[in-house]
Amino acid sequence: MSSHEYDYDLLVIGSGPGGQRAAIAAAKLGKRAAVVDRRGMVGGVCLNTGTIPSKTLREAVLYLTGMTQREMYGASYRVKTDITVADLTARTQHVVGREVEVVRHQLLRNHVDLLLGTATFVDEHTVSVAGGEHLRVSADKIVLAPGTRPARPENVEFDDQRVVDSDGVLNLEHIPTTMVVVGAGVIGIEYASMFAALGTRVTVVDQRPNMLEFCDSEIVDSLRFHLRDLSVAFRFGEQVERVEVAEAGTITTLASGKRIAAETVMYSAGRQGATDDLGLDNAGIETNSRGRLDVDEHFRTKLDHIYAVGDVIGFPALAATSMEQGRHAALHAFGERVSALGEMQPIGVYTIPEISYVGRHEGDLTDDSVPYEVGLSRYRELARGQIVGDPYGMLKLLVHAEDRTLLGVHVFGTAATDLVHIGQAVMGCGGTIDYLVDAVFNYPTLSESYKVAALDATNKLRALDRLVR
Ligand SMILES: Cc1cc2nc3c(=O)[nH]c(=O)nc-3n(C[C@H](O)[C@H](O)[C@H](O)COP(=O)(O)OP(=O)(O)OC[C@H]3O[C@@H](n4cnc5c(N)ncnc54)[C@H](O)[C@@H]3O)c2cc1C
Repeated sequence: MSSHEYDYDLLVIGSGPGGQRAAIAAAKLGKRAAVVDRRGMVGGVCLNTGTIPSKTLREAVLYLTGMTQREMYGASYRVKTDITVADLTARTQHVVGREVEVVRHQLLRNHVDLLLGTATFVDEHTVSVAGGEHLRVSADKIVLAPGTRPARPENVEFDDQRVVDSDGVLNLEHIPTTMVVVGAGVIGIEYASMFAALGTRVTVVDQRPNMLEFCDSEIVDSLRFHLRDLSVAFRFGEQVERVEVAEAGTITTLASGKRIAAETVMYSAGRQGATDDLGLDNAGIETNSRGRLDVDEHFRTKLDHIYAVGDVIGFPALAATSMEQGRHAALHAFGERVSALGEMQPIGVYTIPEISYVGRHEGDLTDDSVPYEVGLSRYRELARGQIVGDPYGMLKLLVHAEDRTLLGVHVFGTAATDLVHIGQAVMGCGGTIDYLVDAVFNYPTLSESYKVAALDATNKLRALDRLVR
């Protein structure tokens, strides 16, 4: 069949960040593109249950609790004393509603058709769309971006009020006074810190010995200290045996015999590829044990014309990476030149306080015997740090001890997820810390921390030089 005989040049399943970018990239090339998603899910998990609602909720928590202002106005400072779920969800609904419109508008402007319903393969070029429009469409190329859903252990009964996952937590009717968070991954710890900020007494349980093991260990220690200060208790190295629901709350029993009573349990124990409805058998594609899809470096499945991008292909499972994967897949599908996704992807963890990093870690530099020096800047030494009232924030640069190139940037505290991009740009251009030492930064800013940390590293390297000579 020639490409003209298909309904579309590109059909995308899933309208999250990966799917949107794939469809729009194809449309920009003049291709006929369509995106399928379920009614009420335009914008994907990202917009409806994941990134955007959780980050908006976090913003509402920070504002209403007055947390970030307490350094200035005292520990009892609050914008609102009795914060309700309605206070929090008002902001979320507003932002999600607007963002859905932005996505719809972008698709419309680029002449990408939006087909509403659940997509299932009929054969390797044909998909039926059911539940909404009841269509059957064919396409020359297909991009799968169906995302993931929370994994639900079989022995736990979720009732979406007492026992919830990261979808259900958005629909709680009131803010619990006590909560167990099972799973100390990014989502679990982000929600643990939000509820702790709201005054919920949170216990985090994880079978691993620590949390966020992919982040800088010094920064994870700082986060742990802060969360403890918000009355978060940690039970690491512990396995959950069962969760029982009673009239007044829940009891979580650990394999060690400990029992934890809490009003609500939030399970955040991994995510499963949302591939069940795709009818992949009809296209001859298999998933791995977690319902995920394997792809090559251009995001092709084992069939040359079917690509997969976003969370369904696994790590790092972030919105920005999914977008780039989607764009890359579409360009590759239509024979456009496309550069490989760089290894230098920033990671952002929106805990309270937030964490972000790009590049290498002290541990792996040591393992690889790379000589490095650390340049440190603490927000409390910056005028801007004092003004915003963030005494604990810090920026850490890892610098090659011989050629002075920037190897890694690790940030903790206010605006960490934005600040990291300055370091990313310097690293992307192969820059050294000399650029940061010589650059003039606006004053007073938190960006200035780069100059302070670069000077710190320079001074340490100089001191070493003097001793060696
Ligand atoms: C609580 C939470 C917080 C997060 N916070 C962040 C964050 O702060 N920063 C960040 O970068 N990332 C964050 N993420 C991850 C981010 O949301 C994902 O990386 C991103 O959404 C993945 O995009 P995607 O393209 O894979 O599609 P998704 O956003 O996962 O969307 C997939 C879409 O496919 C649709 N679909 C699936 N199967 C079918 C079918 N058969 N037919 C039709 N449609 C189908 C689904 O309905 C869904 O709308 C968070 C995730 C969660 C759960």
